[in-house]
Amino acid sequence: MRKYKVIFFDWDGTAVTSRKSPADAAAQAIAPLLAAGVKLVVISGTSFKNIDNGKFAQRFQPEHRGNLYFGLDRGVNNYGFDTDGKLITIPGVTADRKDILVLHQVCFDFHIKLLKDYDLNTDIVFCRDDYCKIDIGSNIFRGDNQFFSSGELERVNINLAWHGYAGGVRGLVALSRSLGVERGLQLKVTTDAKYIELGFSTKSDNVDAILSHLESAAEDVSDCCFWGDEFLEMDDCVYGSDSFMITDKTKGFDFFDVSDAEGRRPAPVQRLGGGVECFLSFLRDQMLL
Ligand SMILES: [Mg+2]
Repeated sequence: MRKYKVIFFDWDGTAVTSRKSPADAAAQAIAPLLAAGVKLVVISGTSFKNIDNGKFAQRFQPEHRGNLYFGLDRGVNNYGFDTDGKLITIPGVTADRKDILVLHQVCFDFHIKLLKDYDLNTDIVFCRDDYCKIDIGSNIFRGDNQFFSSGELERVNINLAWHGYAGGVRGLVALSRSLGVERGLQLKVTTDAKYIELGFSTKSDNVDAILSHLESAAEDVSDCCFWGDEFLEMDDCVYGSDSFMITDKTKGFDFFDVSDAEGRRPAPVQRLGGGVECFLSFLRDQMLL
Protein backbone atom coordinates (compact mmCIF):
# COMPACT_ATOMS: atom_id res chain seq x y z
CA MET A 1 0.00 0.00 0.00
CA ARG A 2 1.38 3.42 -0.88
CA LYS A 3 1.13 6.65 1.07
CA TYR A 4 -1.91 8.85 0.44
CA LYS A 5 -2.39 12.58 0.95
CA VAL A 6 -6.18 12.48 1.20
CA ILE A 7 -8.15 9.57 2.68
CA PHE A 8 -11.93 9.54 2.16
CA PHE A 9 -13.81 6.97 4.21
CA ASP A 10 -17.30 5.81 5.09
CA TRP A 11 -18.21 5.76 8.79
CA ASP A 12 -20.64 2.90 9.71
CA GLY A 13 -19.11 -0.46 8.89
CA THR A 14 -15.79 1.06 7.78
CA ALA A 15 -14.40 3.23 10.62
CA VAL A 16 -16.69 1.84 13.35
CA THR A 17 -18.72 -1.36 13.54
CA SER A 18 -21.89 0.50 14.44
CA ARG A 19 -22.66 4.09 15.28
CA LYS A 20 -23.04 3.14 18.93
CA SER A 21 -19.62 1.48 19.03
CA PRO A 22 -16.85 3.53 20.64
CA ALA A 23 -14.86 5.58 18.13
CA ASP A 24 -11.67 5.35 20.24
CA ALA A 25 -9.80 3.03 17.88
CA ALA A 26 -10.68 5.15 14.84
CA ALA A 27 -9.61 8.33 16.65
CA GLN A 28 -6.31 6.77 17.77
CA ALA A 29 -5.50 5.73 14.20
CA ILE A 30 -6.53 9.10 12.74
CA ALA A 31 -4.89 11.50 15.24
CA PRO A 32 -1.25 11.01 14.11
CA LEU A 33 -2.23 11.30 10.45
CA LEU A 34 -4.01 14.62 11.05
CA ALA A 35 -0.95 15.85 12.96
CA ALA A 36 1.24 14.80 10.00
CA GLY A 37 -0.87 16.85 7.57
CA VAL A 38 -2.83 14.03 5.92
CA LYS A 39 -6.40 15.00 5.04
CA LEU A 40 -9.05 12.67 6.49
CA VAL A 41 -12.56 12.94 5.09
CA VAL A 42 -15.57 11.16 6.62
CA ILE A 43 -18.17 10.47 3.91
CA SER A 44 -21.38 9.18 5.44
CA GLY A 45 -25.10 9.14 4.87
CA THR A 46 -25.62 9.93 8.52
CA SER A 47 -25.68 13.28 10.30
CA PHE A 48 -22.96 15.09 12.24
CA LYS A 49 -24.58 14.25 15.58
CA ASN A 50 -24.51 10.54 14.75
CA ILE A 51 -20.73 10.56 14.24
CA ASP A 52 -19.39 9.79 17.69
CA ASN A 53 -22.31 11.78 19.21
CA GLY A 54 -21.18 14.85 17.27
CA LYS A 55 -17.95 14.94 19.28
CA PHE A 56 -15.52 13.15 16.98
CA ALA A 57 -13.60 16.29 15.96
CA GLN A 58 -13.17 17.29 19.61
CA ARG A 59 -10.93 14.29 20.10
CA PHE A 60 -8.22 16.06 18.08
CA GLN A 61 -6.05 19.09 18.80
CA PRO A 62 -7.69 22.28 17.41
CA GLU A 63 -4.59 22.98 15.30
CA HIS A 64 -4.88 19.56 13.64
CA ARG A 65 -8.65 19.69 13.03
CA GLY A 66 -8.11 21.71 9.84
CA ASN A 67 -7.11 18.44 8.18
CA LEU A 68 -10.42 16.77 9.08
CA TYR A 69 -13.52 17.04 6.88
CA PHE A 70 -17.03 15.65 6.91
CA GLY A 71 -19.29 15.01 3.89
CA LEU A 72 -22.59 13.93 5.45
CA ASP A 73 -26.35 13.47 5.10
CA ARG A 74 -26.18 11.75 1.72
CA GLY A 75 -24.60 14.66 -0.14
CA VAL A 76 -26.40 17.46 1.69
CA ASN A 77 -23.90 18.81 4.26
CA ASN A 78 -20.11 19.31 4.10
CA TYR A 79 -17.91 20.57 6.92
CA GLY A 80 -14.32 21.48 7.64
CA PHE A 81 -12.52 23.41 10.40
CA ASP A 82 -10.84 26.82 10.47
CA THR A 83 -7.38 27.48 11.86
CA ASP A 84 -8.84 27.84 15.37
CA GLY A 85 -10.45 24.40 15.10
CA LYS A 86 -13.98 25.78 14.73
CA LEU A 87 -16.50 24.06 12.48
CA ILE A 88 -17.08 25.67 9.06
CA THR A 89 -19.56 24.80 6.32
CA ILE A 90 -18.36 23.88 2.84
CA PRO A 91 -20.89 24.69 0.10
CA GLY A 92 -22.55 21.79 -1.68
CA VAL A 93 -25.88 20.87 -3.24
CA THR A 94 -28.91 22.69 -1.88
CA ALA A 95 -32.54 21.85 -2.58
CA ASP A 96 -35.22 24.50 -2.44
CA ARG A 97 -38.14 24.18 -0.07
CA LYS A 98 -40.68 23.78 -2.84
CA ASP A 99 -38.87 20.70 -4.17
CA ILE A 100 -38.51 19.22 -0.68
CA LEU A 101 -42.27 19.44 -0.19
CA VAL A 102 -42.80 17.63 -3.50
CA LEU A 103 -40.20 15.02 -2.50
CA HIS A 104 -42.29 14.22 0.59
CA GLN A 105 -45.35 13.77 -1.61
CA VAL A 106 -43.43 11.42 -3.90
CA CYS A 107 -42.47 9.26 -0.91
CA PHE A 108 -46.09 9.10 0.16
CA ASP A 109 -47.11 8.19 -3.45
CA PHE A 110 -44.60 5.34 -3.27
CA HIS A 111 -45.93 4.16 0.08
CA ILE A 112 -49.57 4.24 -1.10
CA LYS A 113 -48.75 2.48 -4.38
CA LEU A 114 -47.13 -0.47 -2.58
CA LEU A 115 -49.84 -0.60 0.07
CA LYS A 116 -52.71 -0.41 -2.43
CA ASP A 117 -51.36 -2.72 -5.15
CA TYR A 118 -49.30 -5.19 -3.09
CA ASP A 119 -50.55 -4.88 0.49
CA LEU A 120 -46.95 -4.01 1.33
CA ASN A 121 -46.53 -1.53 4.17
CA THR A 122 -43.52 0.77 4.34
CA ASP A 123 -42.18 3.26 6.86
CA ILE A 124 -41.04 6.66 5.65
CA VAL A 125 -38.43 8.67 7.52
CA PHE A 126 -39.22 12.29 6.62
CA CYS A 127 -37.02 14.13 9.12
CA ARG A 128 -33.66 14.05 7.31
CA ASP A 129 -32.05 17.12 5.71
CA ASP A 130 -33.28 17.30 2.10
CA TYR A 131 -33.87 13.58 1.62
CA CYS A 132 -36.21 10.82 2.77
CA LYS A 133 -35.65 7.15 3.41
CA ILE A 134 -38.31 4.49 2.98
CA ASP A 135 -38.04 1.26 4.93
CA ILE A 136 -39.12 -1.55 2.62
CA GLY A 137 -37.78 -4.30 4.86
CA SER A 138 -39.39 -3.52 8.18
CA ASN A 139 -39.28 -7.24 8.99
CA ILE A 140 -35.49 -7.10 8.88
CA PHE A 141 -33.91 -6.23 12.20
CA ARG A 142 -30.46 -4.70 12.03
CA GLY A 143 -29.94 -3.76 15.64
CA ASP A 144 -27.50 -0.87 15.86
CA ASN A 145 -25.82 -1.79 12.59
CA GLN A 146 -26.82 0.68 9.88
CA PHE A 147 -25.03 -1.09 7.06
CA PHE A 148 -25.92 -3.77 4.55
CA SER A 149 -25.08 -7.36 5.46
CA SER A 150 -25.04 -10.52 3.37
CA GLY A 151 -28.46 -12.08 2.93
CA GLU A 152 -30.43 -8.85 3.40
CA LEU A 153 -31.07 -8.33 -0.30
CA GLU A 154 -32.35 -11.90 -0.60
CA ARG A 155 -34.66 -11.43 2.39
CA VAL A 156 -36.02 -8.15 0.97
CA ASN A 157 -36.58 -9.65 -2.49
CA ILE A 158 -38.29 -12.74 -1.00
CA ASN A 159 -40.56 -10.43 1.00
CA LEU A 160 -41.39 -8.38 -2.12
CA ALA A 161 -42.13 -11.53 -4.13
CA TRP A 162 -44.35 -12.85 -1.31
CA HIS A 163 -46.42 -9.68 -1.70
CA GLY A 164 -46.61 -10.28 -5.46
CA TYR A 165 -44.06 -7.62 -6.43
CA ALA A 166 -41.73 -9.24 -8.96
CA GLY A 167 -39.47 -6.28 -9.80
CA GLY A 168 -37.17 -6.64 -6.80
CA VAL A 169 -35.21 -3.77 -5.28
CA ARG A 170 -34.19 -2.62 -8.75
CA GLY A 171 -37.86 -2.26 -9.71
CA LEU A 172 -38.57 -0.19 -6.60
CA VAL A 173 -35.67 2.15 -7.39
CA ALA A 174 -37.08 2.63 -10.90
CA LEU A 175 -40.62 3.06 -9.51
CA SER A 176 -39.56 5.77 -7.06
CA ARG A 177 -37.67 7.60 -9.82
CA SER A 178 -40.69 7.51 -12.12
CA LEU A 179 -43.02 8.73 -9.35
CA GLY A 180 -40.61 11.66 -8.95
CA VAL A 181 -40.75 12.41 -12.67
CA GLU A 182 -44.57 12.35 -12.52
CA ARG A 183 -44.36 15.20 -10.01
CA GLY A 184 -41.64 17.03 -11.96
CA LEU A 185 -38.55 15.95 -9.96
CA GLN A 186 -35.38 14.24 -11.21
CA LEU A 187 -34.57 12.43 -7.97
CA LYS A 188 -31.35 10.68 -7.05
CA VAL A 189 -32.36 7.31 -5.66
CA THR A 190 -30.07 4.96 -3.74
CA THR A 191 -30.65 1.79 -1.74
CA ASP A 192 -29.00 -0.53 0.71
CA ALA A 193 -31.76 -3.11 0.08
CA LYS A 194 -33.63 -2.43 3.34
CA TYR A 195 -34.11 1.27 2.58
CA ILE A 196 -34.85 3.18 -0.61
CA GLU A 197 -33.51 6.72 -0.25
CA LEU A 198 -34.77 9.63 -2.34
CA GLY A 199 -33.24 13.06 -2.56
CA PHE A 200 -31.32 15.56 -4.64
CA SER A 201 -27.77 14.47 -3.88
CA THR A 202 -25.62 11.43 -3.02
CA LYS A 203 -22.14 10.73 -1.68
CA SER A 204 -20.96 11.84 -5.17
CA ASP A 205 -21.86 15.40 -4.25
CA ASN A 206 -20.00 15.15 -0.92
CA VAL A 207 -16.72 13.93 -2.43
CA ASP A 208 -16.86 16.38 -5.34
CA ALA A 209 -17.62 19.34 -3.04
CA ILE A 210 -14.79 18.51 -0.65
CA LEU A 211 -12.30 17.81 -3.45
CA SER A 212 -13.20 21.15 -5.06
CA HIS A 213 -12.79 22.86 -1.69
CA LEU A 214 -9.32 21.31 -1.25
CA GLU A 215 -8.33 22.28 -4.79
CA SER A 216 -9.49 25.86 -4.30
CA ALA A 217 -7.38 26.00 -1.12
CA ALA A 218 -4.39 24.85 -3.26
CA GLU A 219 -4.08 21.60 -1.28
CA ASP A 220 -2.31 18.67 -2.91
CA VAL A 221 -5.02 16.21 -4.00
CA SER A 222 -2.83 14.12 -6.30
CA ASP A 223 -3.00 11.01 -4.08
CA CYS A 224 -6.50 10.18 -2.87
CA CYS A 225 -8.08 6.94 -1.75
CA PHE A 226 -11.65 6.01 -0.87
CA TRP A 227 -12.78 3.38 1.65
CA GLY A 228 -16.19 1.88 2.27
CA ASP A 229 -18.16 -1.28 2.98
CA GLU A 230 -21.10 -0.77 0.59
CA PHE A 231 -19.80 -0.84 -2.97
CA LEU A 232 -21.56 -4.12 -3.72
CA GLU A 233 -24.09 -4.44 -6.52
CA MET A 234 -27.49 -4.75 -4.76
CA ASP A 235 -29.41 -5.73 -7.83
CA ASP A 236 -28.75 -5.57 -11.57
CA CYS A 237 -26.85 -2.25 -12.01
CA VAL A 238 -27.99 -0.96 -8.59
CA TYR A 239 -24.88 -0.37 -6.49
CA GLY A 240 -24.41 0.39 -2.81
CA SER A 241 -24.06 3.93 -1.42
CA ASP A 242 -20.23 3.91 -1.32
CA SER A 243 -20.10 3.33 -5.08
CA PHE A 244 -21.37 6.91 -5.40
CA MET A 245 -17.94 8.08 -4.23
CA ILE A 246 -16.80 7.14 -7.76
CA THR A 247 -17.38 10.27 -9.86
CA ASP A 248 -15.84 11.83 -12.98
CA LYS A 249 -13.63 13.78 -10.60
CA THR A 250 -12.51 10.79 -8.47
CA LYS A 251 -12.52 7.81 -10.84
CA GLY A 252 -8.74 7.79 -11.38
CA PHE A 253 -8.05 7.27 -7.67
CA ASP A 254 -7.94 4.09 -5.54
CA PHE A 255 -11.08 2.52 -4.05
CA PHE A 256 -11.09 -0.16 -1.37
CA ASP A 257 -13.96 -2.26 0.00
CA VAL A 258 -13.62 -3.74 3.50
CA SER A 259 -16.80 -5.83 3.15
CA ASP A 260 -16.39 -9.61 3.03
CA ALA A 261 -19.69 -10.07 1.17
CA GLU A 262 -19.56 -11.88 -2.16
CA GLY A 263 -20.83 -10.14 -5.27
CA ARG A 264 -20.02 -7.69 -8.03
CA ARG A 265 -18.45 -4.32 -7.41
CA PRO A 266 -17.85 -1.35 -9.72
CA ALA A 267 -14.65 -1.80 -11.77
CA PRO A 268 -12.21 0.45 -9.87
CA VAL A 269 -13.01 -1.07 -6.46
CA GLN A 270 -10.53 -3.48 -4.89
CA ARG A 271 -12.13 -5.84 -2.41
CA LEU A 272 -9.93 -6.23 0.66
CA GLY A 273 -12.49 -7.52 3.16
CA GLY A 274 -11.63 -7.60 6.85
CA GLY A 275 -14.13 -4.98 7.98
CA VAL A 276 -13.27 -2.09 10.29
CA GLU A 277 -9.96 -3.62 11.39
CA CYS A 278 -8.74 -3.68 7.77
CA PHE A 279 -9.33 0.06 7.44
CA LEU A 280 -7.82 0.93 10.83
CA SER A 281 -4.74 -1.20 10.06
CA PHE A 282 -4.36 0.69 6.80
CA LEU A 283 -4.45 4.01 8.71
CA ARG A 284 -1.85 2.81 11.23
CA ASP A 285 0.39 1.54 8.42
CA GLN A 286 0.21 4.92 6.67
CA MET A 287 2.19 6.40 9.57
CA LEU A 288 4.99 3.88 8.96
CA LEU A 289 5.48 4.80 5.28
MG1 LIG B 1 -21.04 1.74 5.63
